[in-house]
Amino acid sequence: MNKAKNFERQITIEQKLELLKLSGIDEVFGKNFIPENSKNLLKKLFEEFQNCQKCKLSKTRNNFVIGEGNSDAEIMFVGEGPGMQEDIQGKPFVGSAGKLLTKMLKAINLERESVYITNVVKCRPPQNRNPEADEISTCIPILYKQIEIIQPKIICALGKVAGNLLLKKDTTLGNMRGKFFQKENYKVFVTYHPSALLYHPQWKKPTWEDLQMLMNEYKKIS
Ligand code: SF4
Repeated sequence: MNKAKNFERQITIEQKLELLKLSGIDEVFGKNFIPENSKNLLKKLFEEFQNCQKCKLSKTRNNFVIGEGNSDAEIMFVGEGPGMQEDIQGKPFVGSAGKLLTKMLKAINLERESVYITNVVKCRPPQNRNPEADEISTCIPILYKQIEIIQPKIICALGKVAGNLLLKKDTTLGNMRGKFFQKENYKVFVTYHPSALLYHPQWKKPTWEDLQMLMNEYKKIS
């Protein structure tokens, strides 16, 4: 291989960009060119869908709730859909179930800001009913795009709806809990939805065991 080709292989993308700028062609990228990062990409995703009308949930929602947290998070938490408080505030998991989720994270030494939290559907189903199949299938490209941008190592599905969706199964929560499922570039782990724990406090102990499994796996891969 000649020297020129060897040199070209060794330089990084950043060095190539610098060389292009030095060659006077930075106008190709614009004067304020900044490479896209995950935060920018999530912002663009929000802007693209904030007025989404693709399914009937758009008729009753107050706010589109895309999610929040660390755009480079290694763990993502995915619930079912926004509830009343989430719909009012435009943020995920801010009602009583959300406060419990924050406590659950703290219990395994995870700050809420260090993870990314979202839902399967981004608009509140009326009376907090389960999202329907057509609503899920219409909304799901947004979640897949979030996963593609954030590239988490683990996705923790909160409840049966998120578990079935991420595992492409139609099964009970009991059949999914307590195991890691390897997907393309990440693992899926399923546990109870925090709102279920508010009505069934006897499920807190198994949830605590799940969280410890989750943390042990996280320590191995981070
Ligand atoms: S739930 Fe999803 S698909 Fe339906 S209107 Fe909201 S953002 Fe659009």
